[in-house]
Amino acid sequence: MNKLSLVLVSAPLLFACSQPAQQNVSTETKQEAEFTQPAIIAGTDYHSFSNPSEIQVTHLDLDLTADFEKKQLIGSVKLEFERKDPKADTLIVDTRALTIHSVTAEGKPATFELGPEDVNLGSALSITVPPDNTHVTINYSTSPYASGVQWLTPAQTQGKEHPFLFTQAQAVHARSFIPLQDSPQVRVTYNARIRTPKELLAVMSAANDPNTPRDGDYQFTMPQPIPSYLIALAIGHLDFKPMGQRTGVYAEPEILSAAAAEFEDTESMLELTERTYGPYSWDRYDLLILPPSFPFGGMENPRLSFITPTVIAGDKSLVSLIAHELAHSWSGNTVTNATWRDLWLNEGFTTYLTYRIMEMLYGNDRYNMEAVLGYQSLEHDLAALPDNDEILAIDLRGRNPDDVFSDVAYEKGALFLRELEQRVGRKNFDAFLMQYFNHFAFQSITTDTFLTYLDNTLLKDYPEKLDKARIHQWVFEPGIPDGAPVPQSDAFTKIDNVRSAWLNGDIAAKAINTENWTTHEWLYFLNNMPDGLSEAQLANLDSAFSLTQSQNNEIAHSWLLIAVNHQYKPAYERLYDYLVHIGRNKLVKPLYRALSQTPEGKAFAQKAFEEAKPGYHPLTIHANEGFVTDGD
Ligand SMILES: [Zn+2]
Repeated sequence: MNKLSLVLVSAPLLFACSQPAQQNVSTETKQEAEFTQPAIIAGTDYHSFSNPSEIQVTHLDLDLTADFEKKQLIGSVKLEFERKDPKADTLIVDTRALTIHSVTAEGKPATFELGPEDVNLGSALSITVPPDNTHVTINYSTSPYASGVQWLTPAQTQGKEHPFLFTQAQAVHARSFIPLQDSPQVRVTYNARIRTPKELLAVMSAANDPNTPRDGDYQFTMPQPIPSYLIALAIGHLDFKPMGQRTGVYAEPEILSAAAAEFEDTESMLELTERTYGPYSWDRYDLLILPPSFPFGGMENPRLSFITPTVIAGDKSLVSLIAHELAHSWSGNTVTNATWRDLWLNEGFTTYLTYRIMEMLYGNDRYNMEAVLGYQSLEHDLAALPDNDEILAIDLRGRNPDDVFSDVAYEKGALFLRELEQRVGRKNFDAFLMQYFNHFAFQSITTDTFLTYLDNTLLKDYPEKLDKARIHQWVFEPGIPDGAPVPQSDAFTKIDNVRSAWLNGDIAAKAINTENWTTHEWLYFLNNMPDGLSEAQLANLDSAFSLTQSQNNEIAHSWLLIAVNHQYKPAYERLYDYLVHIGRNKLVKPLYRALSQTPEGKAFAQKAFEEAKPGYHPLTIHANEGFVTDGD
């Protein structure tokens, strides 16, 4: 997924201990654990109740009807499983806010029990399975407030005529729309039958047929085993446009052409990535453009990445997002983090690959600019995070795993790989990565497995260039190690000079030659403005460059943040509109945070938030409501 901006440190650090699979945790055990936090057991998924080491689900058959009136998915899932322990007689799956109507084991009613609810994890569903059984069927319906499902009214779509539904399962939200073993180390294949209103099209992270008749009854097959967080469904008034032989885009008709033009380089990205990191394993690579309330930049659902429309800038300046989601086809979807502690194996590798893909496609200048912006974003996150959250192999026990999505997993992870690359040489490192993706294909691995692999490969081949203590420091200690690579960009040095000249009054804003500036140069120019600009300076910038009216959502974001920090009122009407119409957390959260610093700003934020809330995703609401609540 694309990053969630700054970490949501929602649980106090002392609130320690969560439950390894199968163990229901009472309040008492949590309190005890504050004082006796045991060592982390690598590979234990502290965010699932399920018991794959005893009985492991291997395949799902979904049959669901989307009821837009009731905002519910209603139907059944058949879970096929393998017994790892011949004596095991209970299958445990994860659920969250599901209504379980009945459970059968090979057609006969089965005994089941729903455990108590944990705020981060939901409830365990324990099903007694007779000795020879190999599958169970669960009839259920979802809650209208399912954390992984967003139901949009027609008004919240581009076309304004039809409703829209999309799911977002990462990190642990699949359990809110399917009862399953919701752990990234459990891989399943799936088939699905989805029934929708006749005029709508359903698409999934599976084989999609763009020419399927629009009849409200759709079937899907995902033949490769995937972790549960990659199961995804969207339903809307969608059309399809091919972009290349293996790539295409699904979107509402109103934005289909613009999306296809913006992302027309996707096929080239796919080919270049294959050339360097090995064959693409997933057949087709299509994009689905979601309504603006999608809380993330993108989500790497296999075969069909879900993408925010906020990156359609008209000039391809924000397409690194597509490179990122595509790169996940290798790092994340093919080689997967075994637990959320190991998220950096997904996101750090993917961020590293993103930079490399952008360089292959658009050259070294763009690579350097994006790397500098990424590094600045990391420094910004590090300044705000507690030490424990600066560690790649983070301890997330007792916490919401969504907390892990900071720049530490993304940019620090990528910087670590960049150091390895610089030490052993790019060609050698690329060969290593290709071998790594191949070696662990379709497996879910831990940080420790990766480090052992590194010992037996790169460290063995280049003992004079790498050392174990340094690698340990990168993975298990906070901050950025001294001497780490610091990205540099000549283009940005020029921007620094021009900014200083303007700040000193040596040149007027409109005398700055911005004709050939890329979005990256604009972002760098704005993001590094000092505090304490005068009203006249702000007005000077705005009138020279029409920043308040910028149609590039990233540039508008940087400018609006400056406006809030300086209470520059001429931008506030646009600010209000921006907050109400965009639900991508990375773009709105820093604005809400900045507004919340003054009583007047907070009142403004409250008003915008109330108006925006019906269109925001639950994750965006959760991430921002603290900024608009009185009394904190
Ligand atoms: Zn990602």
